[in-house]
Amino acid sequence: MEFATIANSSVNNQKQKKHIFNITSKLGTLTHCVFTLLFLYLDQSNLVLLNIASIFIWLSTFKCNQNHRHDLSAIIISLEVLIHAVIATSILGAESGFQYYLWPLVLLVLAVPALSIKLSAVIALISMIVFGLLSVFCTTTLIPLKVSYSFLSLLNLAMASVPFIIIAAVARYLYENQYLAISRLAEKDDLTQLFSRRFGLRMMQYYIDQLNQHNQPFCIALADVDNFKQINDSLGHSTGDDVLVSIANYLSSTLRETDICSRWGGEEFLFILPNSDIALIEKRIEDMCFNMPKQVVISNWDTPISCSFGLIQVNQYEDLKTAFKRVDKLLYKAKNNGRCQVVSDHSKLLSKQNFLNTRTF
Ligand code: GH3
Ligand code: MG
Ligand code: MG
Repeated sequence: MEFATIANSSVNNQKQKKHIFNITSKLGTLTHCVFTLLFLYLDQSNLVLLNIASIFIWLSTFKCNQNHRHDLSAIIISLEVLIHAVIATSILGAESGFQYYLWPLVLLVLAVPALSIKLSAVIALISMIVFGLLSVFCTTTLIPLKVSYSFLSLLNLAMASVPFIIIAAVARYLYENQYLAISRLAEKDDLTQLFSRRFGLRMMQYYIDQLNQHNQPFCIALADVDNFKQINDSLGHSTGDDVLVSIANYLSSTLRETDICSRWGGEEFLFILPNSDIALIEKRIEDMCFNMPKQVVISNWDTPISCSFGLIQVNQYEDLKTAFKRVDKLLYKAKNNGRCQVVSDHSKLLSKQNFLNTRTF
């Protein structure tokens, strides 16, 4: 149920993206319909054909949006707007204003995350260079028209402003809503001040989406305090709480800026570790595990305080539930293998004995 709720919020993001692209596709198609009629009236058969071809290209983007291929939509739209701007401006000159459409294109590719940031930036840069070149070099190819060039320029400015303003406003609306939704979810766990379980789940889904769309790898680790019941039974529940806070403080102190640690359950913690090789992460988690008994020291308690860890690199197209099951299984293995160790899907089991030989309390 909980996994399904979080997966649904990812579906909502997809819906929002589809919504923006559908609005853009409608505006693009409508713009070319208006210009087809205008160039029919102006007897510019080449430009009529160009606009009819553009209408078909824009119509194809509806199909891409329908199939959630927003990356393909973005590429088709970028090519169409760029090529159309170059051809129309070459025929009618920069005074006609057909280069203005490059601005909403830049906004669309940068503000809506359909393509990777790198590719979006490259398309935006190319668009701005083309805009500059067209504005500077296409000034003398004017052909006589039945309407004035100022009218054409104003019409293009108006038509290009509409998608520009709509995309900017929708992007801002989505950002604000997303921000509010995330800050609501980012509530902290009262006892440990780590992130809540719900936030951990939400961020895990976020990184799964990043992995699927942009191939950005990430790992998750699940930790469970060893023999915690003994501490509770011997020192009382309230001291048990203090021990949990000390453990949480220690775990937080070992994290990088981009790592996320949430309190998963009573004495369980979930780590989300983005953008790093699993071998490096495994080394860090092992250090975290092996140094813990030295760093978390409780008065009147001589037994070393430790955690067992499961660690996995999440696979592309693996869902939240499957990834979690895998890491939980490895944590279970770590417990069965003697506790106070890290078991990952990357390395072989480290035996308790090996570990005991290498650590000093
Ligand atoms: P293992 O190494 O197999 O994990 O042993 P364990 O004793 O830690 O495992 P078990 O799951 O049996 O016990 C966990 C205990 O953690 C039981 C529960 O009372 C205690 N616990 C859970 N949440 C809290 C909490 O918020 N505060 C305190 N003090 N104890 C908690
Ligand atoms: Mg437990
Ligand atoms: Mg436990």
